[in-house]
Amino acid sequence: MYIVFLGAPGAGKGTQAANAARELGLTAIASGDMFRQAIERGDRLGLKVKDYLEKGVLVPDEITTEVVLERMSSPDCRGGVVFDGFPRNLKQAEVLDEALKRQNNIIDWVVYIKVSDTELIKRLSERLVCRKCQTPYGKGAAYTEGKCQKCGGELYQRPDDNIETVKERLKVYFNKTAPLIEYYKKSGKLLEVDGEGGVDKVSRNITGVLRKRECITR
Ligand code: ADP
Ligand code: ZN
Repeated sequence: MYIVFLGAPGAGKGTQAANAARELGLTAIASGDMFRQAIERGDRLGLKVKDYLEKGVLVPDEITTEVVLERMSSPDCRGGVVFDGFPRNLKQAEVLDEALKRQNNIIDWVVYIKVSDTELIKRLSERLVCRKCQTPYGKGAAYTEGKCQKCGGELYQRPDDNIETVKERLKVYFNKTAPLIEYYKKSGKLLEVDGEGGVDKVSRNITGVLRKRECITR
């Protein structure tokens, strides 16, 4: 099974995609996490993508698709994947469709998490992320302790979560990524989910729509 999580920055894609992957026994591929980890390591990929992430613009398609397709070819992805942050424009969506087609696979569902603009800006400006495992944290208990509950890593504010860059990322989202909503709607794959409210509530909404489509049978 192949599922894409779609939504604006701050919509909760990362958190929800990771939850869904666990629940469905699939592997999550998060392009943004892969880029940030490469930047932390300071390797070649990290050096190549650093400026784009800092500016809040898209990493060029050639780099992004190579990284994602390569990741998809590893054995743990054979049973299926939950994509978080990829595809982010029409070109990437087409490349993904073609790559899956070559393996006789298709995208089964696209979960589109819908959140209002004011809520997005508020969430992004408050968010902290684990430097090691990239788990995001909203305002809450972990926040004050400053440590990741999963791996003990240090929590930090992403350099692209400042107001100017957030505005740029939202602009990029509406211009380049939002057209994917139509693209997937046309193929009948779009599952729209209300993303306002707490993590657990949104999780339940998502589980609900996936269960209806018999992705989750329990
Ligand atoms: P968010 O959804 O909060 O913006 P991500 O971690 O998904 O965060 O992405 C962070 C940054 O990584 C993006 O602003 C962009 O620069 C880069 N990026 C991530 N995924 C892609 C992609 N599929 N194509 C191009 N750039 C990407
Ligand atoms: Zn962590």
